[in-house]
Amino acid sequence: MPTDSIWSWTATTLSGSGVAVGVGDGSPLGLAGNVLLAGALGVGDACATWLGVGIAGRLDVESSPRSSDPMIMSATPATPRMIGSAHEERRFTVPESSRPSDAPLSRALALSADALAAEPSGLLTDFDGTLSTIVHDPFMAGLVDGADGALEALAERLAVVAIVTGRMPLDARRLVGVPGVLIVGNHGTQWLDPDQSEPTMAADADAVGHALDEALARVPPMPGVVPDHKGVSASIHYRQAPDPEEARSAILDSLGDLEPLGLRIGHGRMIVEIRAPGLGDKGTAARAIVARFGLRGALVMGDDTTDLDMFTAVAALRGTGRLRAAIVAVGGTDHDVLPEVAAAADVVLDTPADAAELLARLSE
Ligand SMILES: [Mg+2]
Repeated sequence: MPTDSIWSWTATTLSGSGVAVGVGDGSPLGLAGNVLLAGALGVGDACATWLGVGIAGRLDVESSPRSSDPMIMSATPATPRMIGSAHEERRFTVPESSRPSDAPLSRALALSADALAAEPSGLLTDFDGTLSTIVHDPFMAGLVDGADGALEALAERLAVVAIVTGRMPLDARRLVGVPGVLIVGNHGTQWLDPDQSEPTMAADADAVGHALDEALARVPPMPGVVPDHKGVSASIHYRQAPDPEEARSAILDSLGDLEPLGLRIGHGRMIVEIRAPGLGDKGTAARAIVARFGLRGALVMGDDTTDLDMFTAVAALRGTGRLRAAIVAVGGTDHDVLPEVAAAADVVLDTPADAAELLARLSE
């Protein structure tokens, strides 16, 4: 029997994981055939049932898996050592390698479920690039499929669901479109409670607004460069520029030194961010949310450098023992996560769709 026709299947549930080895081509159909083979190898009826449920409940993308359903983690060619192990030891072993795009979701689910079990608990999440795919036109962003229902269910169950975003609060509320959600916009400086029609403005907002006027006036019109004055912060998007890197350099050159204006430049994904550091950031927002709702557990999600403030603040609270937390970084459309963001997270998910899947599983 050629070993390239022998595959191992790894499956996991909330309560455990394991691997089965058999003949196939790595496809779901190959897996179906191995439900029988798993029994023939003596790995037991439990395995056959496990894998059978997996085929029906998890690999069919149109179905809605239950929290108890197993997740098929990988289908990889088995090594002769693994085959021997399956035959000789008649037991499951967890392989050293599994498909990296699926394993983090399982880990994120376990960490998040643990954190949210420490009540009262809350979800603090970024929007763009985390629950929304980054799009060409930043004003056309929207939640990825499935995120709205999950957010709504979690908002009813948790002490707080907060969207902590660089966007203006009313803009974020419009794009999220889910009731019962706290919006903390403008990088944590403007709060919009679910029952509020206008956000609470930060102190010194007028002075910062004027400083931002002055900063943005320094940037000449450029093709594909879109400035966005958000009252107490500003974003300059250059994703649509013919040469984004050239546009970024031109933007920075024209802005010059902003320290005398009390402003600081930051960098996001195809965005130059201008903020007033004295007004706070996503980190101060995270601390304020934890304090306001008396949280003992939190799931925090983000994708970009501005989310690092939130990650760091929550990690510090976790370090004191006052908060149980899961810190999840999310890759964008390009599955790309900045190294410093990944390093600050407990687990990195590939895409916003994975983040929505995580929330959907947690909301069941
Ligand atoms: Mg983001």
